[in-house]
Amino acid sequence: MATVSREDFSCAAATNESAYRRVTVPVLKIEAGPGPAVALMAGVHGDEWEGQAAILDLWHHLPGILQRGTVYLLPAVNAEASLAGTRLSPSDGGNLNRAFLGQPARGYTESVAAALEARLLPRIQALVDVHSGGASLRYLPSSVITRYGDDPYDARLPGLARAFGLPQCIYFRGSEAGSMPAAASRHGVLRLSAEIGGGRETSGSLVERCRDGLLGCLGELGLLPGRPLPRNPEIRLYDLDAPAATLRAREPGVFIPGVELGQSVAAHQRIGQMIEPARPDTPARALVSPQAGTVVCLRAIARSSDGDCLFQIAPALPLDSLSSRY
Ligand SMILES: [Zn+2]
Repeated sequence: MATVSREDFSCAAATNESAYRRVTVPVLKIEAGPGPAVALMAGVHGDEWEGQAAILDLWHHLPGILQRGTVYLLPAVNAEASLAGTRLSPSDGGNLNRAFLGQPARGYTESVAAALEARLLPRIQALVDVHSGGASLRYLPSSVITRYGDDPYDARLPGLARAFGLPQCIYFRGSEAGSMPAAASRHGVLRLSAEIGGGRETSGSLVERCRDGLLGCLGELGLLPGRPLPRNPEIRLYDLDAPAATLRAREPGVFIPGVELGQSVAAHQRIGQMIEPARPDTPARALVSPQAGTVVCLRAIARSSDGDCLFQIAPALPLDSLSSRY
């Protein structure tokens, strides 16, 4: 029988309306004997709901089924942003996925990052950190691998992605020193992320796929030895780090996509347009695909500005090609 304890921590988050205010980040520790220690985390960005809902589900059900090891559950690691339904922290505008800077914390967001570096990362061997498109983007449900060179555990990443069970896997080259994956890499923690859904809404089916993926990862890591692994042999890898993968708006306007998530497109194919209904004399601007591939990510908000990410499109690669990508 697993032992359950709360390991909540709180960080100062003063505002003009509330001096000395603190925000509590909920953490559940579930211990089930010998085995690795694993953290399952969501809500690094507060408006990304699928992982938050899936980990809250595990908060209630995992103590009854965990067979080995220790699991830390953090359903809303940026609790202030989750409570506000925002990507960034309301009190200081911080992006928790850029706040792991290894310096004295300058506000709420960096305090959360510092607490995770001091209290969580030294105690775990593996981390699954679930994201989604949030309010402004939608993703084809995908696991995410970020590589930082030749981490000794990189060979285990394809197995973890297969255990997560989604047919897509996104690859990023780790270049952000202050990100959660970068901090985990510094601490020698095996790490998988995910991008599941997005927009301002979520759905029960996406939450279930995320929860099953997290359980699959715990199985792959040896914490649920009796549970069959949902191995997906046909995973397609999409390199979204390549500059040609991202198409951004070059002027303000209303974004009208002409293709769907998951659709295959050719290079230079017309995939949408930018229009300006309040200025009917302004001609529509055609949007063309920067390269051939699959639409993996799509902006979820019509009104757009110069620089906004509209599409991410990349060719499907075999998962085995990961070893040659850094
Ligand atoms: Zn995110």
